Amino acid sequence: MNQYDVTVIGSGPGGYVAAIRCAQLGLKTAIIEKYPTLGGTCLNVGCIPSKALLDSSEHYHNAHSAFADHGIGLDNLTVDMNRMIDRKGGVVKANVDGISYLMKKNKIDVITGVGSFVDKNHISIVPREGGEAQQIETKNVIIATGSKPTVLPFIAQDKERIITSTEALNIREVPKHMIVIGGGVIGLEMASVYARLGAKVSVVEFMDSIIPTMDRGLGKELKRVLGKIGIEFFFSHKVTGATRDGDTVTVTATNAKGEEVKFEGDYCLVAVGRVPYTAGLNLEAAGVEMEERGRIKVDEHLQTNVPGIYAIGDVIRGAMLAHKAEEEGVYVAETIVGQKPHINYLLIPGVVYTWPEVAGVGYTEEQLKEQGKAYKVGSFPFKASGRARASGDTDGFVKVLADKTTDEILGVHMIGPRIADLIAEAVTAMEFRASAEDVARMSHSHPTYAEAMKEACLAATENRAIHM
Ligand code: FAD
Repeated sequence: MNQYDVTVIGSGPGGYVAAIRCAQLGLKTAIIEKYPTLGGTCLNVGCIPSKALLDSSEHYHNAHSAFADHGIGLDNLTVDMNRMIDRKGGVVKANVDGISYLMKKNKIDVITGVGSFVDKNHISIVPREGGEAQQIETKNVIIATGSKPTVLPFIAQDKERIITSTEALNIREVPKHMIVIGGGVIGLEMASVYARLGAKVSVVEFMDSIIPTMDRGLGKELKRVLGKIGIEFFFSHKVTGATRDGDTVTVTATNAKGEEVKFEGDYCLVAVGRVPYTAGLNLEAAGVEMEERGRIKVDEHLQTNVPGIYAIGDVIRGAMLAHKAEEEGVYVAETIVGQKPHINYLLIPGVVYTWPEVAGVGYTEEQLKEQGKAYKVGSFPFKASGRARASGDTDGFVKVLADKTTDEILGVHMIGPRIADLIAEAVTAMEFRASAEDVARMSHSHPTYAEAMKEACLAATENRAIHM
């Protein structure tokens, strides 16, 4: 029987990063993945394929709507969905192959099959399609089995017309009318893809705003801008059912007045969140305890109630984000060898890859109000940015929240061009506990979108933005 210092179950961004860090630290490491490709949700049916389609659809949208303004004329613009989806497949393949390469490079044993506990130190692995099981012995286990889409019990998903994000990444035609249930990150990203390609898109949301967990100002601005590409929003609507008849889907909902509303389309995307995935792990055999909402219970060191068994990523509490899972993977590997790592959960940024992009880190204005904290606000609109005017991306703003007394940056919330990258500046500043004035006094290359961060910091310190 093969013996390991660490066995990682699940090869998503939590699992594969944990495995690499374990191997770097000299631990004999195995990683178990039930699917034939590595990379988990993120690389196969999440972050990477969605961004590939977002980029493709953004090119089409720009060619269709923005090029003329730049003086570029195009005749016979077409969309070849087969090619677009195949390209996305190629992007996924390059990424998952890259993970296989990294496993080899770091001498990590990859075992394909469903991993389940025999006891706390033994894992059995059975091929997904059935067959002979193998068993390994391990000193430590890192559970990184991720999550799956939430199912609404009153909606039968046929995965052809009533679909989850996984199928939405593989539609080989432009829908005529896509009804998206849920105005969260995944729903809005997929809504953007298909609205840009010419589909009518209706977003039906239970709450009274989109991206409700982010700073409220971002949701308001995003709704306004997505409205410009034709996405319609139906807030305070409680979906009660979705049915399919041939190629037609009908979604029923109750609106705020208690009236029944019907939406008819050709696709219904159910995007109401994700739930932790632990099926098949046989956690009872190792005595691992769960907590509410199907999550594995962990302590502050990400260790379960069983010494030597850890859990990370979407399967435990906290934001369901790839970069959160990655940080936790590194954290656990370093903890196993006796180091004292640290994760600052407040500074894990949240990002939405619509256009304009949306990102936030630290406290929202609503949270600061709730805490009764005295704070200052500095805001800078992209319409006042030279770089944004040049590219024609003038929607959105950067908002900096700073402590009223000390000027320490407490939160940064952005909507605008390329701010998924720009938010890294805010994270860096906040990790070093910078004041708004610190950032305001740093040189930012001109012309860049990043200048909006500097200007918002100037605005937060005695209202002295230069270009506003
Ligand atoms: P996962 O990536 O879910 O990986 C878990 C792996 O474990 C899977 O491969 C699964 O097959 C395997 N597994 C499960 N059980 C077993 C078992 N018993 N034995 C063996 N293997 C098993 N996050 C971002 O940060 N940025 C984004 O842009 C982003 N976009 C997204 C877009 C979409 C459409 C979706 C659906 C998600 C997106 N996410 C994004 C979320 C991100 O994908 C997840 O937060 C991330 O993948 C979680 O990583 P993980 O390692 O915890 O689990």
